[in-house]
Amino acid sequence: MLLLGQQADMNSERGVECTGALPAASDPDLVERARVARAALGDRAFILGHHYQRNEVIDFADVTGDSFKLAREAAARPDAEFILFCGVHFMAESADILTSDAQKVILPDLAAGCSMADMAEINQVEDAWDVLVDAGLGERTIPVTYMNSSAAIKAFTGRHGGTVCTSSNAEVALRWAFDQVGGLDGDGKVLFLPDQHLGRNTAVLKLGLSLEECVVFDPRRPGGGLTEQQIADARMILWRGHCSVHGRFSLQNVEDMRAAVPGVSIIAHPECRHEVIAASDFVGSTEHIIRTLEAAPAGSAWAIGTELNLVRRLAQAHPDKSVHYLDSTVCFCSTMNRIDLPHLVWAMESLLAGRVVNQIVVNEDDAHWARVALDQMLALPGV
Ligand code: SF4
Repeated sequence: MLLLGQQADMNSERGVECTGALPAASDPDLVERARVARAALGDRAFILGHHYQRNEVIDFADVTGDSFKLAREAAARPDAEFILFCGVHFMAESADILTSDAQKVILPDLAAGCSMADMAEINQVEDAWDVLVDAGLGERTIPVTYMNSSAAIKAFTGRHGGTVCTSSNAEVALRWAFDQVGGLDGDGKVLFLPDQHLGRNTAVLKLGLSLEECVVFDPRRPGGGLTEQQIADARMILWRGHCSVHGRFSLQNVEDMRAAVPGVSIIAHPECRHEVIAASDFVGSTEHIIRTLEAAPAGSAWAIGTELNLVRRLAQAHPDKSVHYLDSTVCFCSTMNRIDLPHLVWAMESLLAGRVVNQIVVNEDDAHWARVALDQMLALPGV
């Protein structure tokens, strides 16, 4: 592991460098410095804030949303010279891919990566593809990657005729993908990257595949830890990746919550484990969770299985409802929380001083093929 501020981790979708002197987090004037810098940047800058960001950062966001909404918002601001992305590395990469060459995408702290995206490295995925090709399955397999993946993985997906998906459109993306390899009733396969849970939950609960038809490819084991027969029989080849935040929720959490809060409705993000999703009342993306809470009647009780910053904001926004966090222990997304007000102020003040810091640039070839996969997603019905 590299220490913060020392070198860059070339094997990771994130970096660890954060050069320059940050304002002290304890600086009582920090909010005022942020206001002054934001006002001075004016229309030259557009600030995006992911739903899982801290309140101190969200307060300065021009728009909030999930990763896909934010990438689209960035693309819709062609006049903004700087896109300050308060999210994680793969999101800033997507914004760079979807914005013009003249625009600069800034990630206030390069250590803001995503543990799930880091679980699929491009060399591992190419090795896995070789395993499938050697088994004679290259023509009958199509890759689908979740938005939460590096630009290199999205590019791999584009090169092999696949698509990107989000937690909102995973069902549509998988139906389209199976259609490309002979339909759901055929024997074609999907290689789903990098979140095994979203892939399994969607395949089983939305497409009607069985758990046995979903196998997990472990990149650290020869042949993915699967026999040729297991791969041949599978319909969904799930990458062995998961979200360190959503993967924490357990069936026990669901049972404890139902016992503690009679009548509670449980809503969970599809990155949660299958048994949690199967035991929940509702399942959906962060945007879906937000809309569900907005539409819920006063007096209703909710337990939410997603990142804690968002759940806390929902609890504050709906004082007429009883809103609970599904886990019994606190769990923020630690990499998302790398972005804090000192980093945001440092990034804004640096831009005002003429220094472009922490710019995220995707190489031209990867950007091209990642865009092919993203465009394919945008062409899916209803997206
Ligand atoms: S919440 Fe999970 S998937 Fe989202 S950025 Fe954090 S680690 Fe990645």
